[in-house]
Amino acid sequence: MSEILILPGDGIGQEIITQALKVIDCLNADFNLGMTLEHGLVGGSAYDETGSPLPQVTLDVARQCDSILLGAVGGYQWASLERNLRPERGLLELRAEMDLFSNLRPAILYPQLASASTLKEEVVLGLDLMIVRELVSGIYFGKPRGVEVRNGQKYGFNTAAYYESEIRRIGHAAFKIAQLRDKRVCSVDKANVLEVCELWREVMIDVAKDYPNIELTHMYVDNAAMQLVKTPKQFDVIVTSNLFGDVLSDCAAMLTGSIGMLPSASLNQDGFGMYEPIHGSAPDIAGKDIANPLAAILSVAMMLRYSLNQIDLALKIEVAVNTVLDKGYRTQDIATEGSMVVGTNEMGDLVVEALA
Ligand code: NAD
Repeated sequence: MSEILILPGDGIGQEIITQALKVIDCLNADFNLGMTLEHGLVGGSAYDETGSPLPQVTLDVARQCDSILLGAVGGYQWASLERNLRPERGLLELRAEMDLFSNLRPAILYPQLASASTLKEEVVLGLDLMIVRELVSGIYFGKPRGVEVRNGQKYGFNTAAYYESEIRRIGHAAFKIAQLRDKRVCSVDKANVLEVCELWREVMIDVAKDYPNIELTHMYVDNAAMQLVKTPKQFDVIVTSNLFGDVLSDCAAMLTGSIGMLPSASLNQDGFGMYEPIHGSAPDIAGKDIANPLAAILSVAMMLRYSLNQIDLALKIEVAVNTVLDKGYRTQDIATEGSMVVGTNEMGDLVVEALA
């Protein structure tokens, strides 16, 4: 029995999470999933109702649940609020409060959508890689930081820093994921220039000793960016720091050609995870029944695989999505000539039909 906190958030969040809930209902009814749901507020909608983008009650309920399923946050109407009241702040605080240090960003190309990628089909067909990004430390959080006046001019500075323990735990997370996959980890750093990356590499080599069946390789980040575009299929799991992971994971996402298809997970030490599509709240299409709900639905599959140890059910969802794509159904964002264009709601129904 698992208890999940549902946080639809803003914009298209509500519409896409409604489709994911249909899938959960189906798994509960037909496959004895036994998932119970709590519902909460985060982001702009939480600010409107409570004055905070992360109400205390949301945090309290999250701490009692096994995982979170989130839609997306943000929107034009909240963009001019002071920084600590903005919707995105709610999400960042939630990640920090739950210590979600391990960000999993899969980049999978569905063969039915190969023509949506800007790369040649033969380069991306069969692509299935996982980027494991350290999410709560590194240069985004390092101190000192700031902008001040030095030597008569403005001077901006940040600090790239990692404790050994922080590298060790993201290393273990990556190796454990590689155990479920093709058993290869590529650690991406810039150890030829940065001392913090020398430590990163040293610790990764040490962590690897606990996983003798996993192959560990190293790559400098500039080369990794090049290789991702040139021969992305060479990678299985990439593990990297917060900054490098931020850039490389968006690059990898675009190899698949479609932002509406990709889920993500952010996990803590205990396997608690927050699962969400990689896309934002898409205010430009909110409420029009055209958003692609598949990333949200596939986020449920990720949750089943990485937090709830229900790999069979995760596979069932993934197969159902494939079946719907095989039949030629597409939301507008992934439609090509000859495909049958359906709305958000209908796409959710089609996945449930394929599941049941
Ligand atoms: P976005 O991802 O919301 O949208 C980018 C483009 O992709 C838009 O044209 C949008 O219509 C389209 N798109 C996104 N998801 C789609 C889907 N499921 N189906 C079809 N089309 C889709 O990014 P943005 O426009 O830069 O940001 C909008 C808001 O979302 C901002 O407030 C931003 O801060 C927020 N944001 C939130 C998250 C998050 O909640 N994790 C992530 C990124 C951006």
